Amino acid sequence: MSKTAETVWSNCLSFIEDNISTQAYKTWFEPIKAVKLNDNALSIQVPSKFFYEWLEEHYVKLLKVALTKELGAKAKLVYIIKMENTYGNKQPFTEKIPSSNRSQMKDQEVDVPLKNKSPELKNPFVIPGIRNVKIESQLNPNYSFDNFLEGESNRLARSAGYAVANKPGGTSFNPLLIFGGVGLGKTHLAHAIGVEIKEKYPEKTVLYISAEKFTQQYIESVKKNNRNDFIHFYQIMDVLIVDDIQLLSGKAGTQDVFFHIFNHLHQNGKQVILTSDKAPVDMIDIEQRLLSRFKWGLSAELNHPDYDTRVAIIKNKLYRDGVEMPEDIVEFLANNIKTNIRELEGAIISLIAHSSFNKREITIDLAKKIVDNYVKYTKREVSIDYIQKIVSDYFQMDVDTLQSKTRKRHIVQARQLAMFFAKKFTKASLASIGSQIGQRDHATVLHACKTVDNLSSTDKQFKKYVDDLNKKLTL
Ligand code: ADP
Ligand code: MG
Repeated sequence: MSKTAETVWSNCLSFIEDNISTQAYKTWFEPIKAVKLNDNALSIQVPSKFFYEWLEEHYVKLLKVALTKELGAKAKLVYIIKMENTYGNKQPFTEKIPSSNRSQMKDQEVDVPLKNKSPELKNPFVIPGIRNVKIESQLNPNYSFDNFLEGESNRLARSAGYAVANKPGGTSFNPLLIFGGVGLGKTHLAHAIGVEIKEKYPEKTVLYISAEKFTQQYIESVKKNNRNDFIHFYQIMDVLIVDDIQLLSGKAGTQDVFFHIFNHLHQNGKQVILTSDKAPVDMIDIEQRLLSRFKWGLSAELNHPDYDTRVAIIKNKLYRDGVEMPEDIVEFLANNIKTNIRELEGAIISLIAHSSFNKREITIDLAKKIVDNYVKYTKREVSIDYIQKIVSDYFQMDVDTLQSKTRKRHIVQARQLAMFFAKKFTKASLASIGSQIGQRDHATVLHACKTVDNLSSTDKQFKKYVDDLNKKLTL
């Protein structure tokens, strides 16, 4: 049987696909083409240097295992980087891009003859009458890459954001859509990209705007009969950042105007950065033609930060505020506020304020009180018994089996999931959760929570269990 580059690579791909998340697979492996096979060396073509660096940094081990399985111990991988300036025949990144649009998008920036078109630029940020030629970016300099801590949960979005900041309009990440739940850093990252671009390319016109404000300005422009000026203003941006685009849902007029602005910018190789609290597939009441454009570039998710990232974020915040806090309290916070970084920061600020106003030491008790105020428990508190029942049903076992002392992997996992959800959905202490789920101690419960956290970010089947159960428990 003779091996070809294609067959070898396709075998590697099926192995890789089983070992990483779907999103990561789509993003980093689907665009790769197998080019040739010489003895033990497989050459693959990747779309850019950034791509190659990313693969080397994050997937080199996996690639090695996959390739060794196919070609033996002497297997070698050769990267061929597609020239970045040949956008015209470039493989679309995540979605099919109409070739007419693609071919117009050159790395070399197209000179837009806009400047002469309309001598007077109406800036909707400026009160009429007051001439202001310089466009303020509306960026918050406090949101930088430096203080946007990196973790497993944000690595893709952060790196893609950084790549975009280095080469606005010049990567395949256009638009870059950052999506994720409340308080996970979308606004921070969007600003950081803008701030970085301004630092590297001070001459570029960068604008940050929330979709809400954009909508208001649009409505205003219709009232004042200067819709064209409004469009024109946005079309001269080099970099346009629109935050919370899910807010455009149901607003047909604003979507329409945004569609035109988007097309103009994209066709001229300008960078568009969007954020949303939902993935494009889950957006409702957004026109199809707009949705399909959102998918042209890269959609990168901000996930819930894992334990280590939460600890790092807390410590960084304390460090910046010049406050010291005992390690056990840092751990307590990181263990109890998991799904929202804004709540995590709020709890820290409030803790510091309480202790300094009342001249009290920061203690675990105080931390507990404050966390109670910051963590939104689900309205109907589910009981630990109910959680065990739902988890056992889901895995088709009975509660006794779930609680038994067995080390069988699938039973251990079910038990760990029950502990994890008990921690998440009830106010019970680790010790009390342990005693109710098969007489375990608090360390076992803590370990279970961390294991579930870790597995859900590395094992997609396991993540599905977590998501399914989460849905069942929050119905
Ligand atoms: P979103 O827009 O997703 O609701 P924000 O960007 O407003 O969330 O982030 C909420 C808070 O959490 C902000 O104060 C932000 O600085 C902080 N934050 C989010 N992600 C990180 C991170 N990776 N490192 C440090 N701080 C972060
Ligand atoms: Mg936000």
